[in-house]
Amino acid sequence: MLKTLHLLRLQHPALNREPAASAAASAESLEAEEFFNREATKWNQSGHSGNPEPPTLIWKASNGRGSVWLGGLPTDADLRFMEENNITLLASAMDKTASEAGGYRGSRALQLAVPVSYRGRERQEKWLYLRQVLVATLGVGQSAWFHCMAGVHRGPILCASAVAFAQRLAFWKVYENIERLRAVDRGGVLNRSGGADIFSWAEGIAAAPTEPLKLHLPVQWVASARRNATWHVASTRRVENRMQPYCKWRQSTTQSVFKGEVITAESVAEAVVIGREFCKNCLAVVPAGDQALIRN
Ligand SMILES: [Zn+2]
Repeated sequence: MLKTLHLLRLQHPALNREPAASAAASAESLEAEEFFNREATKWNQSGHSGNPEPPTLIWKASNGRGSVWLGGLPTDADLRFMEENNITLLASAMDKTASEAGGYRGSRALQLAVPVSYRGRERQEKWLYLRQVLVATLGVGQSAWFHCMAGVHRGPILCASAVAFAQRLAFWKVYENIERLRAVDRGGVLNRSGGADIFSWAEGIAAAPTEPLKLHLPVQWVASARRNATWHVASTRRVENRMQPYCKWRQSTTQSVFKGEVITAESVAEAVVIGREFCKNCLAVVPAGDQALIRN
């Protein structure tokens, strides 16, 4: 099985440069979503979408803080579990987030979706966003729950890619480990047309180079002292020993310097109390729990 997949992957070298989704590709993607949603209800080993196997611990930080779980669709009944495990990020491997798919509607977690069975730009862009938030989230000891409907077809693929990317492991090493921990259906994905492509994509994104985080964790916030100025994430870069907004790190030093006095906050809770707008570009890079606190 592995050998076949490897050969298939060689035939698809442009893993990270996918064409923009055409109308035909999105029709095909929707069909794939429906297929996997249906399969999740038919899965006859432990757990299906009507009664998923409980979430499985896939990875845990060696310091005991921050972990990655894989499960079925999180619901409001899972709030206690999410609190106990400090889960602040719900990462869907479908075209819908948990709440959009009829699951958890509460405010404690940020919900993101990466439609793994879609080909094209949308899948890649949503993955790049998720991986950034995931690294920051685990970096402050918060946890993530990866899911689809039953946690059997799409969820395990995205989860394996994410853990492999964050921990610099091979995709298949993580996926095979998931197969030992939880009833998942590799064949159900592979036997469908386009299924091997999904695995090729998942292998490719897991092996992509990582970028160092350009912000401190926990996140520090900085704003101009002017009335009602926006909160930005403080960048690790300083210019003339002054704090810089994270979102301006690409710009020249003269453009990025705050003019005049600044105020700072050491936590998102502290920044929220001061009551200013948050820069949307900066918000995108902070841990999921912080984003949930601000957005909800
Ligand atoms: Zn900003």
